Amino acid sequence: PHEEIQLVVEAIEADYNQAVVALHGVSFTVRRGEIRALLGSNGAGKSTTLKAVANLLPAERGRVTAGAIRFEGHNVRATSTGDLVRLGLVQVLEGRHVFRSLTVEDNLVTGAIGRGSGRADIARDLDRVYGWFPRLAEKRRAPAGLTSGGEQQMLAIGRALMARPRLIVLDEPSMGLAPLVVRDIFRTLKQLNTQEQLSILVAEQNSTVALTYADTATVLENGVVVLEGTAAELRNREDIKAFYLGEG
Ligand code: ATP
Repeated sequence: PHEEIQLVVEAIEADYNQAVVALHGVSFTVRRGEIRALLGSNGAGKSTTLKAVANLLPAERGRVTAGAIRFEGHNVRATSTGDLVRLGLVQVLEGRHVFRSLTVEDNLVTGAIGRGSGRADIARDLDRVYGWFPRLAEKRRAPAGLTSGGEQQMLAIGRALMARPRLIVLDEPSMGLAPLVVRDIFRTLKQLNTQEQLSILVAEQNSTVALTYADTATVLENGVVVLEGTAAELRNREDIKAFYLGEG
């Protein structure tokens, strides 16, 4: 089952406002049970790629102009974001986007909307999310806007889990968070990956942490794939990290 390819991104090109070309032919795959990191500096095209995968570009006057994206055999370019969620492809956007005035628990419940489950199902899934993120259980009655940045990131991930994803797509989960919080979040993602066979596609500027937890990585620069390999291969190439990722 590990060899089964779940997501195929094939030579996609994308632009915004029919003007700014952001992707010039990006290809990679995600196998079932794999964690793939999408690396690259600011503006390399990571977010655009993730939005293309979730069919979210039209909402930003962006579009995929060429290439193919298939999730478990479905043509992503012809499938709405909501339908993709129901098929098991769920994204966690950059900046977390929690509903600040809703409680932590009500935020989680919104993740189950569209799934058509009953109360008992939702209660079971809430318990499951609280098991992964005990901090959220402690804060279940608090307005999300009053929780810390790390808790909001956990909440965004927890809400995605409520949709019962088979592939989760995350944009810069480490952004603005302290190193220990980042480590906690990545450890939990890794456990979800191994214990629930959850596949993960994660964009990160923090290549060090991403390469610690990922199986494979794709490096983008100016909308082009400049490098790809196993995380172990890339971890050992300090020269490459310095050159493409701006880290020494
Ligand atoms: P970041 O970490 O800053 O999000 P990134 O690697 O995710 O960087 P993208 O956000 O995908 O990069 O940006 C790729 C290119 O597309 C950049 O040239 C950027 O300026 C452009 N771009 C991104 N979003 C928009 C938008 N909504 N409208 C117009 N151009 C955009």
